[in-house]
Parts: sequence; C-alpha cells; structure tokens
Amino acid sequence: MSAEILEERRQSIHTKEEHGANTTKGNSGGCGGNGMRCDTASVAGAVSQRACVYCGARVVLNPITDAFHIVHGPIGCASYTWDIRGSLTSGSELYRNSFSTDLQEKDIVFGGAEKLAAAIDEAVANYAPKLIFVYATCIVGVIGDDIEAVCGQAEAKHGIRVIAVKAPGFSGTKSTGYRMACNALMQLMLPHAGQPKVQGVNILGDYNLAGEMWIIKNYLRAMGIPVVAAITGDAAYEALVKAPAAQLNIVQCAGSMMYLARRMEDELGVPWMRASFFGVEDTSTALRQVAERLGDVQALHRAETIIGKRSVEATDFLDRYRPHFVGKKAAIFVGGGFKAISLIRQFNEMGIETVLVGTQTGKPEDYEIIAGLVNPGTVILDDANPAELEAFMKEKGADILVGGVKERPLAYKLGIAFCDHNHERKHALGGFEGVENFTREVNLSLSSPVWKHTRGADSYASTASVQADLVRRALSANPA
Ligand code: SF4
Repeated sequence: MSAEILEERRQSIHTKEEHGANTTKGNSGGCGGNGMRCDTASVAGAVSQRACVYCGARVVLNPITDAFHIVHGPIGCASYTWDIRGSLTSGSELYRNSFSTDLQEKDIVFGGAEKLAAAIDEAVANYAPKLIFVYATCIVGVIGDDIEAVCGQAEAKHGIRVIAVKAPGFSGTKSTGYRMACNALMQLMLPHAGQPKVQGVNILGDYNLAGEMWIIKNYLRAMGIPVVAAITGDAAYEALVKAPAAQLNIVQCAGSMMYLARRMEDELGVPWMRASFFGVEDTSTALRQVAERLGDVQALHRAETIIGKRSVEATDFLDRYRPHFVGKKAAIFVGGGFKAISLIRQFNEMGIETVLVGTQTGKPEDYEIIAGLVNPGTVILDDANPAELEAFMKEKGADILVGGVKERPLAYKLGIAFCDHNHERKHALGGFEGVENFTREVNLSLSSPVWKHTRGADSYASTASVQADLVRRALSANPA
C-alpha cells in the first residue's frame, strides 16, 4: 500500500475483505457501526476536503430563492460562497447575490453589531425581502457580536423574518453547519405549526442544481401527489411556511436533512421517509415507496406505469453504453453517504466497478450499507484529504473520479476522467433523465483522447511538463 497515512487517520480508512468484513489501513477492525471513525471533527493538519461550518449552513439555505443572505464577517467568507450551489430558480433571483457586512479592523476591535443592523435596514429599504438570513462567521464567533439580538430587533422594527444562523467556521464540521441551517428552517416554520393538513409532500435535501427538483416534481405530479414545499432547491418563503401542513417528508440528501426531518416529525408532526432519485433502481424504488407510505393506491398504480415505461427506456440506453465501460473502475468522493450509496448502485447498473468510495459527512449506518455493496478490495474512507485520494486512486487503478469542485483538479492532475456530481454540474443527474445524462457524461469523460497524453503524470509538475511538451510540438509544427 503506497499511501502514507497519518496515525490519527487510520481508523477512518478501511479496505473491504473477502469475507465481507473490513480492515483499517494498518489496524484490524470493522467498518460502519463497529469501528469506522466518521461523523467527527477532522484531524488537525490532515488537510480535509470538507468545507467549514458556515459553508455547510450556506449551501443548505442559499437555494431559498427569495431570501436575502447577509454574511456577517470579512468579505472573503461572502465571496467564497457566492452563488455557491448553482441552484436553479423558477422565480426570484435574489438569492444569487452575496451580501456582506465586510467587517474591518475597526469593527473587530469595537464590535460589528451596529454595522449589521445598518446592513439589514439597507436591505429592507432597497429590496423589501420577506426573509433575511444572517450568518455569523469565524471572526464573529471570536468577537462575540450578539447577532440573535440584532436579528430580533430587526424583526420587531421591520415586521419580517430575520433569522440568525450561528455558524462560525471553526465551531464544528460541515455537518454542524447543516444542523445550524436546519435550526434556522425550524425557526421559520415553528410559528406556522398547527395548520390544517393538506394533501401532499415536502421534498427535503434536493438543491435543484441542474433541475432535479423539477424532475422529481414532474414524477409526483404525474402520480397525483402535490409538492407542498421544496426544501430547499427552488424554495420560496410562502411555500416554506406551509411545509408543516404536508403529509410526509421525502428526504433525499440525508446528510444535510435528516436532522430537520426528525425535528419536523417531533415538533410539527410530519413523518419522513428516505428516498434516492439517482439511478434506475433507486428512482423506481423511491416512486413506489412514496405512494405506499401515503397509502395511495392510485398513485402506486400511476408510479408503476411511469416506472414500466421509463425504466425500460433507461435500461435499453444503458445496454447500448455498457460495452464502452468494460473493465473500467470508478472512485467516488462526495458529500453525503446516501449519494455515495446511490452512485455505487448506478455504477453497478453501468457495469463499472467502484474501487474507492468516500464521503465528507457519512454516518456509521451509511458506511455499513456501502461496505455491503462494494467488492472485496474496495477502499472505503471518511473525510479524506487529497494525498489519500491520490494514493488510493493510483493504487486501485481508478479510471474516473466522481466528486465535486475540490476534487476536479486532483483528477485532472492525475490524468484521469472526472464527473462533477456536486455544485457545478450543468446536467440533471436525478431521475430516469439523469441516468442518461450521467451515463453520457461518464462516457464522454472516459473516452476523451486527452488522457492518452496525460495518463501516468502523477503530479502537477509532470502534467505541466506534458502540456509544455505539447505546446512545444505544436509550435514546431506551426512556426510563427
Ligand atoms: S467562516 Fe471562517 S472558515 Fe468559513 S469561510 Fe469564513 S473565515 Fe473561512
């Protein structure tokens, strides 16, 4: 094994063995609930791929399209997360801005509360929002501005909702940020508890990155099931406050939304179920289970009609592409465990073996399922860093990496294919439509002729020298 692993990281990296158990890299032990170190703070100095607490909160709340997001902190925090999700909207574009109090040295010394109050006044005067989120960043956690008091005073003054999101970047993991965002959503919904129930469901944990929320809504509409609130892809204030009236919460991204689902069940009486709309198998199962949970026989009948038609089409499509994927191996590193599980299943449907799988925020139960799905020899790791990903991708001979914006350069530097399954994707990867888009993207990236020139380059320097060589050859062929 070529990777040098920090001693403190060994319990977070496992290899599945022949008999189905797993060993840590260096220590024996199990994975998932019986030994995998996960859902804990990152090891200091290990250069985690995770984002900060504030970023976790912002990615969950930002897709609320008509909300005003004020980042109380230095301008860098706001610019880091500006338009972060790329979520699509069918209404307001307000959320695509990034507003900041731009704290300076004087504010750090004397406090930034007055500046925040002035920023809220200015936002209300210029934009008339119904809902403002105020995010506390690292420096606010250090100087101790009482943003809850400022938000409370602003609510009384302007008669709108102004909700504090206490998310200093250093105060936990990205999952802590998800919880802070869920608490903010509960703060928004709790005054609307006790509404009469209506027919319909809420969709939790889809962020409409490339229109997936619209795909799921179309299926449910065809089944005769209204969507009360989308939380939070393409969400709007008026729909969110009706969410407590829904019959059921459908939770897609469990990593960010299970906490909200549990609180909504306990405090608002909305039960929940988990569902994944990635891949033929998961999408089909999700549609059936939603109808079954609602006890809606007609919806189940309609779901079977959709599944019968669309799954056959998607399977035919996969059959055409499968010969391109013979012998290919995939590495997966994504945010949540549920997405990783769906991706393993999707690669299985495509005939691609998953040889490495990791997440930023997976829970013990996610790693149990992952260990049950992959082949012996697969490396399973939590909260990885670039050095570990690089070493294990090389060791396992991965041909493609599926990840997000932070993993993309790593794949390209190593000369392997890449598919963005995160914030920057441009094609919907959910539902039966997503099966075709994902298959096409994986095929395009794997088949690109560029890998012939970069494969084997194992560092930026060597990739750069390959590029320089190509430029030299092009220049000598076409002298100026
Ligand atoms: S909150 Fe802290 S860690 Fe997060 S972007 Fe701002 S300064 Fe960086």
